[in-house]
Amino acid sequence: MIPGRDQVIACPHCQAPSRFETFASGNTIHGRLWTDFYRVFPMMPFPPDLIGCHACGKCFWVKDAKALGFVDPYGRHPQNDQEWMWSQSPRVRWPSPKAIYAAIADGMCKTKEEAGSTRLIALQRRNDEWRDDETSAGRPPDADDARNMEELLALSHESENRLLKCEIFRYLARFVDALDALSGDLPAPAAVLEFIRSLCASGDARVRLIAPTKLERKPANVVPA
Ligand SMILES: [Zn+2]
Repeated sequence: MIPGRDQVIACPHCQAPSRFETFASGNTIHGRLWTDFYRVFPMMPFPPDLIGCHACGKCFWVKDAKALGFVDPYGRHPQNDQEWMWSQSPRVRWPSPKAIYAAIADGMCKTKEEAGSTRLIALQRRNDEWRDDETSAGRPPDADDARNMEELLALSHESENRLLKCEIFRYLARFVDALDALSGDLPAPAAVLEFIRSLCASGDARVRLIAPTKLERKPANVVPA
């Protein structure tokens, strides 16, 4: 990866600056994909789609944030006071699930599609808690998490979202429903489907890393439309 300068953006709610790294070129080496469709490519460090503001705590889409400028990632050689201040601003971060639920309750989502992608992000942020700990058994969803999953199920009626439905059923420990959602043809490698079936069969109700050897196609093909 060839790193670029940090992009500085302003929170649309409170105007506080924050920044994220950019890259001049990257690749998918060492990329990881989990069963909840969350992907990380260390050599292509895209910013979060949805950001939790470090100053006011509200959520905003990175695409809606005003671009202020670019700074050196290490704060070297600022041209003026403003550039120095920007270089000291925090790096962007995903919002917590609770912050996302609050934003949805405040009317952040204008369309069904936006509601679906926002609720999926909330689900993934919940799963972050044990994403990198394969030994943890996870924990059952609390009332807010379960409500989010039920809403996401209602939004995921299309056939291409059956993998997502299966995953939600699995997190809700509804393993019979999860297996049922996997019946018929699905746009995923056979080894991935077999892996998820085995998780259902063993009563595993948490997000899991999909081993690269199971991915016969590019990760993008596993993600629902
Ligand atoms: Zn803010």
